[in-house]
Amino acid sequence: MLVVMQSDATPEQIERVSQVIRDLGFTPEPIPGKTRTAICVLNNPGAVDPNHFVGLPGVKEAIRVSKPYKLVSRETHRDGTVIRVGQAVIGGGELAVIAGPCAVESEQQALTIARKVKASGASLFRGGAFKPRTSPYSFQGLGEKGLDILVRVREETGLPIVTEAIDHEVCDLVEEKADVIQIGARNMQNYTLLRRAGRAAKPVLLKRGMSATIEEWLMAAEYILNEGNRQVILCERGVRTFAVHMRNTLDLGSIPVVKKLSHLPVLVDPSHAAGIREFVAPLAKGAASVGADGLMIEVHHEPEKALSDGPQSLLPEEFDRLMKEIKR
Ligand code: PEP
Ligand code: MN
Repeated sequence: MLVVMQSDATPEQIERVSQVIRDLGFTPEPIPGKTRTAICVLNNPGAVDPNHFVGLPGVKEAIRVSKPYKLVSRETHRDGTVIRVGQAVIGGGELAVIAGPCAVESEQQALTIARKVKASGASLFRGGAFKPRTSPYSFQGLGEKGLDILVRVREETGLPIVTEAIDHEVCDLVEEKADVIQIGARNMQNYTLLRRAGRAAKPVLLKRGMSATIEEWLMAAEYILNEGNRQVILCERGVRTFAVHMRNTLDLGSIPVVKKLSHLPVLVDPSHAAGIREFVAPLAKGAASVGADGLMIEVHHEPEKALSDGPQSLLPEEFDRLMKEIKR
């Protein structure tokens, strides 16, 4: 339920509606907009009778929210969310580019790549310190040491850091040291982690699960917003289908659909979708064309030696070329 107030409604009238919602046992969430305030009814397990609100002073109308998600929905927030991290802006019409290696391997590796992607125009740096790997025998990341390397990368380059929290236990450390907390595809429905990230004071980048519908993805984002953190960035990274010509099937159609359904910014990660270096650039250009708010791209200066995702990592010069082509 969304109680839409008249444009000249007073703070007292808004508070009175909020109190009626609290008296019903639910939670009011006033959402100020450019022209009027709307009050979203949260934590109601079933439908709410609009007659509780119609006729109250200052109320224009009470409308049922047709979707199961509320806080992430465009029905409740008409204006697109813009997230600022350091100098970087995500949402609001600019194409934000997050670039860096799949995993942090050493200080020298991370700094070498960071200097190059910054020179090419990336506005945030990525690199996994805690890696969710399919095999327990694969490189699992440098852990806290990797986070400290990322802190040094930020100190030297000024680029904000995006890195993954693979569970709620490491989320404290990631929140402390990183600028954006990434939740990976494998964890999109890890509700303990989603709730923990929802209590973080840093933006969260939520990747789409590899078999998640758009509704499941938006409901996962709703968990984060419902805990109080409204700074969520969505990221499409390909879903699993019968097609085996790429690592995943990039669902470019999800971008305009999610942008219609939600006010949250949506990025595309063409690297994990393609899985193969030569297909990253065409997918990135497609993403920019369908209105993505940004890109997340894996880059490595020695991909043949990379400890994870080398085959899909662009060489710095390929990344530079892509950035120039996308700008054009
Ligand atoms: C990553 O970004 O390195 C990663 C593991 O991605 P995903 O969760 O999309 O597989
Ligand atoms: Mn990777």
